[in-house]
Amino acid sequence: MAQSDIEIARAARKKPIQEIGAALGIGADHLLPYGHDKAKVDQGFIDGLADRPDGKLVLVTAVTPTPAGEGKTTTTVGLGDGLNAIGKKAAICIREASLGPNFGMKGGAAGGGYAQVVPMEDMNLHFTGDFHAITSAHNLLSAMIDNLVYWGNEQDIDTRRVVWRRVLDMNDRALRQITTSLGGVANGFPRETGFDITVASEVMAILCLAKDLSDLQERLGAMIVAYRRDKSPVYARDIKADGAMTVLLKDAMQPNLVQTLENNPAFVHGGPFANIAHGCNSVIATKTALKLADYVVTEAGFGADLGAEKFMNIKCRKAGLSPACVVVVATVRAMKMNGGVAKADLGTENVAAVKEGCANLGRHIANVKGFGVPVVVGINHFAGDTEAEIAAVKDFVAGEGAEAILCKHWADGSKGMTEMATRVAEIADSGTADFRTLYPDDMGLFEKIESVAHKIYHAGAVVADGKVRAQLKEWEEQGYGNLPVCMAKTQYSFSTDPGQRGAPTGFDLPVREVRLSAGAGFVVAICGEIMTMPGLPRHPAAEAIRLNEAGEVEGLF
Ligand code: ADP
Ligand code: MG
Repeated sequence: MAQSDIEIARAARKKPIQEIGAALGIGADHLLPYGHDKAKVDQGFIDGLADRPDGKLVLVTAVTPTPAGEGKTTTTVGLGDGLNAIGKKAAICIREASLGPNFGMKGGAAGGGYAQVVPMEDMNLHFTGDFHAITSAHNLLSAMIDNLVYWGNEQDIDTRRVVWRRVLDMNDRALRQITTSLGGVANGFPRETGFDITVASEVMAILCLAKDLSDLQERLGAMIVAYRRDKSPVYARDIKADGAMTVLLKDAMQPNLVQTLENNPAFVHGGPFANIAHGCNSVIATKTALKLADYVVTEAGFGADLGAEKFMNIKCRKAGLSPACVVVVATVRAMKMNGGVAKADLGTENVAAVKEGCANLGRHIANVKGFGVPVVVGINHFAGDTEAEIAAVKDFVAGEGAEAILCKHWADGSKGMTEMATRVAEIADSGTADFRTLYPDDMGLFEKIESVAHKIYHAGAVVADGKVRAQLKEWEEQGYGNLPVCMAKTQYSFSTDPGQRGAPTGFDLPVREVRLSAGAGFVVAICGEIMTMPGLPRHPAAEAIRLNEAGEVEGLF
C-alpha cells in the first residue's frame, strides 16, 4: 500500500533550518529558530531588502473544487521543487493551517504525497504560535470593549450594536451565538455575541495585508468594533487597543521559514478565510520571498473564481504585486465530476464526462487571461487517470488557446514536474504578462460587485434589496468607496448553488448582506450562507488522533 502523507513526511531527510536560510542568503543571525526545522525571519533583515529587485511571481489556482480533490498546495510545493530541480532559485509561499478544522475532517495544509512541506505535524498544529497570537490580540480587544462599557461607557457604545465578536481556533458550534456577562453587577452588562474561528478574524486579514508593523497598527486601529446610538462607528483606536494588539502580534508578523521534502525553502505565513477574507498567505512573506528568490510560487484558496480573483483584485492591487504566470490545477477526476459523474463512479473511464466537465476549466482559463496573465494548466495526475481522459483535457485546453501539462509530483516529487517547471520559467521570463485588475479603485462598490458577477461568474442579474444598496452608498459617502470587494460565496459553483457544477450562466446572484472590513481594507459581499464558526462532524478526526509508543502523532492524516 502507498505510504500516507504523514509517513512520507516523517521519513523526510530534513536539513537544519539555518542551511535552508543560507541558500536564500539569510544569515543564521537573521533567523529566529523555533526548534531545528522552523524559523522566523527577522524584521530588521526584511527591512534591509527593500532596494533589491523582485523575482517572478507565479500563482497556483484551480478549477472549481469538487469532493474528488484538486491538489493546489501539492502542486504549489511540487512546482517549487521542480523549479529548483531544473536549477532555478525558487521559493514557495503558502498559508498556515487552522488548527481547529484538523480535528474535524481529515486533510492538512502542507501538500501531499512527495510534494509536501515539513514538519507537517507542527504546521498543522501549533506551528510557531502565530494563530494563538492572533487569537489573543483579537480577544484582548473584545475584553477591552466590554471593560469600557463596564467602567461607564465613555464612548457611548450601543451594546446592542457591538459587531466585534470573540475568536477561538477550534470548531465549536456551541459558541456560535452566546450571552455574555451573566451573573450579576460585578460581571458587566449582559449582551448577545458569539465566537468565530480565528482565521475569520479581521486581525488575520490585516496581518496578511499589512506592509510592516506601523501599517499593522494603523489598520488595527481602523477596525470598526461597534456603533453608537447615533449610528456613528466606534473604532479599535477609540478603545485604545491598537498599540497593545500590535505588541501581541510583533512576532507573528515575521514570516516563518520551513522546507519541502526536497529541502527547498517554503514560507508559511498567515491564513485568512477565503470567503469573508481574501484567502492567501501574507504580503510580507510574499514580498520577502520575491526579494530572495528568482521565482516565487504561491497559492490562493478555493477555485480561480474566488481565490485567484481575490489574489488579483485584493492582494496584488493593495501590495503592488504583479503575477508573471498562473497555473490552473485541473484533475481528470474533477473534470468528470463537473461533467456529472458521482464520486463513487470516478474509477471508471468516462471520456465523454471529462469533455463535458472541461467547460468549467475553460471558464477559469478565460477568467485568468482576463487579468492579462498567461495561463498554463497543470493536470495533477491521479493513479486511475487513463490516457484517453488525459488526452481529452489536453485537447480541450489546446482549443482554448492554452496548454496543459501532465504533472506527477504527488507520486514522483520534482522529477514529475520537470516539463511544467521548465515551461513556467519560460513563460515567467518571457515578460508576456500584462497584469491588470478587473475594476478600477474609483468604480462604485455595487458596480464592483457586478463586475465580478458578470465577468468572472457569468451571472445574469445581481440582486440586492434597498438596504444593501443604501449601505454601500453610505460607505461611499464615508470615504470607503475606493475599497475592493471581497466576495463571500460557495466555492463549489460559479453560481450561489453548490449543486450547479460545470459552467452555468445567467443565474441571479443575490447579495444578502454587506460588511465593512475597514482595517483590512475591503467590503465583503455575502452571497449565500457563510459559516464563520465550523462545527465538528459526527465522528471527528480527533477520535483517531493520538500519540504512538514512539511519541509520534498518529491519525492526523
Ligand atoms: P488543495 O490545496 O487544493 O486543497 P491539497 O494539495 O491540500 O489540495 O491536496 C488535498 C489532498 O489530496 C491531500 O491529502 C493530497 O495528498 C491529496 N492529493 C493531491 N494530489 C494528489 C494526487 N495526484 N494523487 C493522490 N492524492 C492527491
Ligand atoms: Mg491548499
